[in-house]
Amino acid sequence: METMNALVNTTPGHAEIQRVPIPSCGKGEVLVRVQSAALCGTDLHILEWDSWAQGAGLRLPFILGHECCGDVVSTGEDVSGLRAGDKVAVETHVPCGRCDRCLNGEQHICHNLTLFGIHMNGCFAEYAIVPAICIRKIPEAIDYDFGSLMEPIGTAFRAVFESHVGGCNVLILGCGPIGLFAVASAKTLGAHQVTACDVSASRLDIARRVGADRLLNPQETDIRALILNDTHSYGVDVIIEASGNAAALQESIRLLRKGGTVALIGLPGQPVAFDIGKDIVFKEAKVTGFHGRRMFSTWSRVERLLSTNRLNVGPVMTHVLPLEQWREGVRLARLGEACKVIFHPAGHA
Ligand SMILES: [Zn+2]
Ligand SMILES: [Zn+2]
Repeated sequence: METMNALVNTTPGHAEIQRVPIPSCGKGEVLVRVQSAALCGTDLHILEWDSWAQGAGLRLPFILGHECCGDVVSTGEDVSGLRAGDKVAVETHVPCGRCDRCLNGEQHICHNLTLFGIHMNGCFAEYAIVPAICIRKIPEAIDYDFGSLMEPIGTAFRAVFESHVGGCNVLILGCGPIGLFAVASAKTLGAHQVTACDVSASRLDIARRVGADRLLNPQETDIRALILNDTHSYGVDVIIEASGNAAALQESIRLLRKGGTVALIGLPGQPVAFDIGKDIVFKEAKVTGFHGRRMFSTWSRVERLLSTNRLNVGPVMTHVLPLEQWREGVRLARLGEACKVIFHPAGHA
């Protein structure tokens, strides 16, 4: 039996590269040769085996990784429209196709949702088995590395797109990869002024390179005074919350103008209290959570913009490593020295 290298989460808090059999496709599945795979905050949570990971319904052992791009090798029974050699990226939300939300065009919030690379083997391996519903054929003009980022880019892009940022003052909280992708998306979608907030100077520098008009470090600047000053004391039109920081969200919602929009993507580790009357009802704030990409209208938009170089996300990708150096990638990501780390499991240059 032919084997491949795979990063396997063997026991809680422990992962290692193992030689495992190259899998073959079952019904409705596609075998993909993984050219690029991106490390995500979710993978770090799993590797740490924190409280989120403990409650996430994981079954060990499994192959880590969910953000990826590669080439179709073969397809199983009942899969049509794909052939060997097609360049594909992977949607990580695996919908059931039959529940109330699936039948109403909202597969991304399927009631029976499972996640590729979390509830089933993922893509930190030379080959991955992917449910056909999650395969997205992408234009040749998008290279493998950018292709592997389309999943997280899509999350950020959709939150910004559905917040109607054209001509607006936009405040983006948190400059991790998702916040940075949101900065780039807001610029592409015609925001008037994009203000990026983070406590890390290096992250703010990437925010500048992806197009933020103003960089704010809340530990150094009185954000409230600044924002009220340049919005005639009305507040900002749109807040994109990508920090998961409860205090940042509580403070910033007071800087939202009446009738403004808050898009929530970050995940605070505990419940967050709001003054609902003052901060939401009387203001008519529109507060929406975003869980991933619409399947597949978000993908269509991101594909067109990426393949024509109109989404400036390159600076977010700080490290490209062979899969064998995954420990180094994880170390740099944990320290905040790396932003998005990409592995090349199939070993392409
Ligand atoms: Zn992810
Ligand atoms: Zn469903």
